[in-house]
Amino acid sequence: MLETIALPVLSDNYIYLLHDTVSGETAAVDPALAQPVLMKLHEKGWRLAAILNTHHHFDHVGGNLELKAQTGCKIIASDYDRNRIPGIDVTVQEGDVVRIGEHKAKIIFTPGHTLGHIQYYFEQDKLLFCGDTLFALGCGRLFEGTAEQLWYSLQKLKAMPPDTQVYCTHEYTQNNGRFALTVEPDNMVLQERMEFVNRLRAQNLPTLPTTIAEELATNPFLREDSASIRHTLGMISDAPSDVFAKLRRLKDSY
Ligand code: ZN
Ligand code: FE
Repeated sequence: MLETIALPVLSDNYIYLLHDTVSGETAAVDPALAQPVLMKLHEKGWRLAAILNTHHHFDHVGGNLELKAQTGCKIIASDYDRNRIPGIDVTVQEGDVVRIGEHKAKIIFTPGHTLGHIQYYFEQDKLLFCGDTLFALGCGRLFEGTAEQLWYSLQKLKAMPPDTQVYCTHEYTQNNGRFALTVEPDNMVLQERMEFVNRLRAQNLPTLPTTIAEELATNPFLREDSASIRHTLGMISDAPSDVFAKLRRLKDSY
């Protein structure tokens, strides 16, 4: 089994620890900081074998060098980011496979938020670590790529099994959901989900992981075919990627 622990750090980041209970191997996904990871490893008696980075932003790689110095772990990241991810040991591309014990993660290349962005997809375990590509009820900002690139990247997620558990790096769900309601106010599944999200956040509880199914039903950035969203935007017959681009622009100024 692959055990997953979420460590909330900074204002709204999560660092995920993955632990293979059979081999004892442990990995950290996007360690913004080293200290909380070291403390949890110590508490659990786990040894860090690898860091899996999704992209080069500081809130995803800030703990890389200290963790490597303290644990000797190897750092895995996108080939595109080979010169901008600290301590990188292994570069990967679309279709490559990395292993945590017997658990295999396929690399999915998803540029848009940044040009080198990758995701770690544990297909057999139905777990996806998607960094800042998809968020619960939202998606990443376009720092380097175009709307069309990110739209294309998100199509790869839409095709995954609906019960895939999606681990995003940020707790942005409540704010994303408020925006989602402005573009699809009559989506009752979204309304109900937001009530649940509001209750969780009132108790300072995480809203993640989410699932592909939940996002397909409620996330406007995966719902550019929705007649209701298209009606709100006045884009009844526009191309899906154009509707997506408009949603991204509206969210940027929300
Ligand atoms: Zn980022
Ligand atoms: Fe981030």
